[in-house]
Amino acid sequence: MPVMILSGGVDSATLLWYLCSKGERVHTLTFNYGQRHSIEIEHAKIIVKEAKKRGFDVTHEIADISPISHLISSGALTGKEEVPHGFYTDERQKVTIVPNRNMIMLSIAAGYAVKLGETEVYYAAHRSDYAVYPDCRKEFVKALDAAIYLATLFTPVEVKAPFVDMTKAEVVSLGLKLKVPYELTWSCYEGGDRPCLKCGTCLERTEAFLMNGVKDPLLSDDEWENAVSEYKKYSERTI
Ligand SMILES: [Zn+2]
Repeated sequence: MPVMILSGGVDSATLLWYLCSKGERVHTLTFNYGQRHSIEIEHAKIIVKEAKKRGFDVTHEIADISPISHLISSGALTGKEEVPHGFYTDERQKVTIVPNRNMIMLSIAAGYAVKLGETEVYYAAHRSDYAVYPDCRKEFVKALDAAIYLATLFTPVEVKAPFVDMTKAEVVSLGLKLKVPYELTWSCYEGGDRPCLKCGTCLERTEAFLMNGVKDPLLSDDEWENAVSEYKKYSERTI
């Protein structure tokens, strides 16, 4: 029975459905790290509620590490800096890094797994995040898995990232087959009531749905039209 990190976004919702569809009980853990897009946490709660409605066996805990967020970052996700528009490959996107975020979250998740008597911790790192987030890379997963195994040696815990070789479009493709309720997920970093459609995560999300030939179900028809035109605009700039 795995523990997994659930953010409220597309990737971790897919991971939840992927694990639940194997018939396992899944313990989800959502982190409040002072992110300005705290709406994401509300979406995590809604996703768990929906998973339960569909008969999945899921527990949910919120780990509030916001009191120490000022020690971790003054970056765009937690501080006052603006969220840059454009693709993740753009150098400016580096301000969206919360340094060492995944290591901090996975360490806590590993401790939680030991407490529950569980042996696996999952998170939804994937290949499309490699460019800007070093703690989504395969090398990091491998190294942290080894470190956590040693740290929990008497009750060993493994770190698993089953999507690590997949692009976000491939993650969405899997999720569409698993009938993940993507209309309940949230990605935008801006913290507004509706997605901005221009930040790195909005553009990446639009690309993933576009590549699967489907509309993002979170968006209205007009919003989807805007999302596609923003995506095309930024793609042309990148070329
Ligand atoms: Zn956005």
